[in-house]
Amino acid sequence: MLLTWARRISSTRLRKSLSSNCCAGGEVCLPFRSVIPVLAFLAWVFCVFHYFLPIKLGLSLADQLFSSFLFVSYLILILSWEFSGPILAAALTGLSALIVFYLALATKEPWLLIQGLVYALLYLGIASFLFEIQKKVNDKRLLKEKLEEETLLVRDDFIKNQDLEKAYQKRIDRFLDLHQFAETLKGIPTLSEAANRVVDEAHSLVPYAEECVLYLVNNYNQKLEILASNRALTLQPSDPDGSPFDQWVMKRSRPLIIEDSMNDFRFSTFRRDPTLKLRSVCACPLMTENKVLGVLRVSSRAPLVFSSDDLHSLDIISGLGAVTLRNRLLYDRMEELAIRDSLTGLYLNRYFQERLQEELARSGLSAGGGKATVFSVALLDVDHFKNYNDEFGHLAGDHVLKAIAKVMTRFLEPADIGARYGGEEFALLLPGKDKQSATNTSELIRKEIQGTKLVIRRAERTVTASIGVATYPDDGQSVEELLRFADKCLYQAKNQGRNRVCGNT
Ligand code: GH3
Ligand code: MG
Ligand code: MG
Repeated sequence: MLLTWARRISSTRLRKSLSSNCCAGGEVCLPFRSVIPVLAFLAWVFCVFHYFLPIKLGLSLADQLFSSFLFVSYLILILSWEFSGPILAAALTGLSALIVFYLALATKEPWLLIQGLVYALLYLGIASFLFEIQKKVNDKRLLKEKLEEETLLVRDDFIKNQDLEKAYQKRIDRFLDLHQFAETLKGIPTLSEAANRVVDEAHSLVPYAEECVLYLVNNYNQKLEILASNRALTLQPSDPDGSPFDQWVMKRSRPLIIEDSMNDFRFSTFRRDPTLKLRSVCACPLMTENKVLGVLRVSSRAPLVFSSDDLHSLDIISGLGAVTLRNRLLYDRMEELAIRDSLTGLYLNRYFQERLQEELARSGLSAGGGKATVFSVALLDVDHFKNYNDEFGHLAGDHVLKAIAKVMTRFLEPADIGARYGGEEFALLLPGKDKQSATNTSELIRKEIQGTKLVIRRAERTVTASIGVATYPDDGQSVEELLRFADKCLYQAKNQGRNRVCGNT
């Protein structure tokens, strides 16, 4: 019961001391609180020894002394517990017990002995209580340390998770970017635009690259040709045929990452090359149907710039870019085939008519703002071609048509259009050329055809051609008028003895 009582008081005391360790002003009041039970104890001692003398003299004062003990002792205990906490209470109680034992022995008074026993029991109770409190405090300290440790672990986990989240977010951003890139590639109308988009995307995903280049493999000579680039101005111009790194990727059809080319044994032979300033390289082949279509490379003059993540991103861009470029190339090729004659490689008549119509519209528009822009058309017909065919066969005739197409192409300027008009007739659209200029060009073509030696059945043969020229706006205002005028001129050239150019009817 005593133990329970002590526990109850001490727990109240502990709660109080925990909740009010500080005074209102923030000052610690514990020393002042300890003074009160100590003073009470001293009063108790004074009281005890004040009555000690009469007891020693044999006067019967045990009852008074006992009640004084009882009163003051409990006062001490209450004050101790209330004011100073269990440790001081235990000390004072212990001292009180010792004093009471001493007095009991000195006076041989049994009540005092009982009183002493009570104090001893109280002391044991307090001691066990203190032991238990200490155990609890230790447990709590251990729990606190464990919790602190767990908090630290959780904090570390949190930081790690934050880093992971950032890394995942970066990856998600990259994939979203790539998804958007794949979407935009679908709508790109030309090969060069698609190539520039690929280079821009590579540069945006690997922004620390100083140079980003896209090469295309030329199928005829298996050399790399630069298609698009995005470079820092401080670098030397890129090798138009590709650096040794690009050649390496093209030949092996494998991605390449170099942390420092100066320490890479694969490129040790190029180390002394002063033009080779690239230290960090990341390059991927553009593969379609197991064939290398091109090479995409990002590079920097500093070492240790790229990571495997960059190579991965570049690989995805190369994959997407390869499909788009391949489709674009096929589409361009099909478009070209659709407008070109398979025998001669010149444009078909339909395409020629469309371009002629466009040229007429353009010249007509400029006429609205003042003087009309001139252009000319010429019709070319091979002389006595039927005889040639009859004598040497249709295949030999085809050979002649091809040779004539080649000659025409050689004399045409980039803006000019050469077309197979039909059968053994050819047409020329010469934008910006007046009658004189168009006649000169036609004359050059005619002379070259005449001078071209064709080997048929091991013998050299030649053919001639007649050409009729019409010029806008003098000779006609529409496609039909112009072609009719050119045809008339051609007819006239034939009538005048063939192998000539005629521009007037
Ligand atoms: P001219 O000097 O008056 O033009 O005489 P020509 O014999 O050339 O007469 P024309 O221009 O009418 O020639 C038509 C001939 O062209 C008929 C045909 O044998 C030949 N020809 C037309 N298309 C082709 C072709 O694709 N290949 C070959 N080999 N011959 C063709
Ligand atoms: Mg003809
Ligand atoms: Mg003819």
